[in-house]
Amino acid sequence: MALLERSEWYDLARTTNWTPKYATEDELYPADMSDPYGISTEEWETFDEPYKVTFREYVAVQREKDTGAYSVKTALQHSDYYDVADPAYLSMLKMHYGAIALSEYAACQPDARTARFSKAPGMRNMGLFAFLDEMRHGQIQLWFPHALVRKDRQFDWAHEAQHSNNWAVLSGRHLMDDVMMTRDVPTCAIMLSFAFETGLTNVQLVGLSEDAAKVGDHTFSNLITSIQSDEARHAQIGTPVIEIMVRNGKKAEAQQALDIAFWRVWRVFAILTGVPMDYQFPLEKRAMSFKEYMHEFVITQFQRQILDVGLDRPWYWDHFLDDVENHHHCQQCGIWSWRQTVWWNPTAGVGPREREWLEEKYPGWNASFGTYWDVVIDNILNGRDELAWGDSMTAVCNMCQIPISHRPGPEWRARAHQLDYEGRRYSFCTPVCKWIFGTDPVRYKDHHSIVDRMYSGEIEPPTFDNILKYMGCGEVSEGGRDAHDYAWIEAYRTQPQAAE
Ligand code: MN
Ligand code: MN
Repeated sequence: MALLERSEWYDLARTTNWTPKYATEDELYPADMSDPYGISTEEWETFDEPYKVTFREYVAVQREKDTGAYSVKTALQHSDYYDVADPAYLSMLKMHYGAIALSEYAACQPDARTARFSKAPGMRNMGLFAFLDEMRHGQIQLWFPHALVRKDRQFDWAHEAQHSNNWAVLSGRHLMDDVMMTRDVPTCAIMLSFAFETGLTNVQLVGLSEDAAKVGDHTFSNLITSIQSDEARHAQIGTPVIEIMVRNGKKAEAQQALDIAFWRVWRVFAILTGVPMDYQFPLEKRAMSFKEYMHEFVITQFQRQILDVGLDRPWYWDHFLDDVENHHHCQQCGIWSWRQTVWWNPTAGVGPREREWLEEKYPGWNASFGTYWDVVIDNILNGRDELAWGDSMTAVCNMCQIPISHRPGPEWRARAHQLDYEGRRYSFCTPVCKWIFGTDPVRYKDHHSIVDRMYSGEIEPPTFDNILKYMGCGEVSEGGRDAHDYAWIEAYRTQPQAAE
């Protein structure tokens, strides 16, 4: 029997809104979940997803993707790749898995919310597929590192991290709780699908897969490609939502959702992507710097998408451009120095050749960030190892939960941006994180940063050892140490002063 073409029945098949008889429309679709903006159901019904897929097609393609990724893993499982890989690369894998695997599972919740509560039938379909996507690639990202646990217990953090109070996890969780776990359907579509997935992660996954292939890790490269193809489809949920909101007089609300989420995601994204690109990947394999990547794929391309959809550039664009030059370099200094607090072994990535490259890509790097590393190098060379790692806590931003920092050296731009609210003082890394707090203080005011917990009695006594224990370091596996056990310092013995 001949089957109809998809286009002949697709529109009809997803016209699934009906007039409820036993409940009111508000009961079926409460405003808090479905639409706090009061846009009519007829308007939501115009939602038209750019990427059309049927359930039959969906499961066939997903099965193929899984078969592909698992086959590559099986074929390569007896290779010694992970025994001989550069420890800096393995650190990137550990960081990735711990930060991402269970966040994918968590993303099932906003997608399921969309599948149930969206007033747009087509969007409900897309939400269901997105839910299945996140479930699939959450599982696959737990299974792949599981095979590596026997080689290295730090890989256990793929599962462990999101259940811990590790500072890096608190930062990611605060972000995800804000943009995807506690928002209504349309706001979440802007924050998660448009700002997060379209703006930052989709192109990043393409680059990450290429980079993994370049260093010979075809297992991880295929895994990431498999995930990227899921994300590229469901990321498209956001655009039609913004178009409907702009057309219905809700541009300001859509703009604010974009502005909040883009900044929040950026702060974490820069650590997960900028640090690997500029410090962890071997110099000879680097195609572009993080900054070049940001300018090409985000600052140019995403900006165009923002304007195309009828919104404006976020108001803080200049702060953002400044952060692209600084934020991940600051965090690289901090993560390496406070390496016991993370579940991977951070690489310094600042040998003489690497520093030349950093100076070329970020003019002025040596005169600022370089001065930080000069002190580190001098301490290690002169046997003052105890000065080459941090044993207290830094000030942490009450919004992004990331250590407050800025350019070191003569410029010394680090400062806290503070705000008093209901008798409490909050500290922020930038005017943007401070602005986000001000958009909805009630939402944010009761969260305790890791530093707040040292004073509230939750971490008692607040000694460094106890803080590490609170964060889970040393429980499942030891906290981080230098990825190369200081081997990189040898280059400075023959060349005693750091390159100017
Ligand atoms: Mn995902
Ligand atoms: Mn996703």
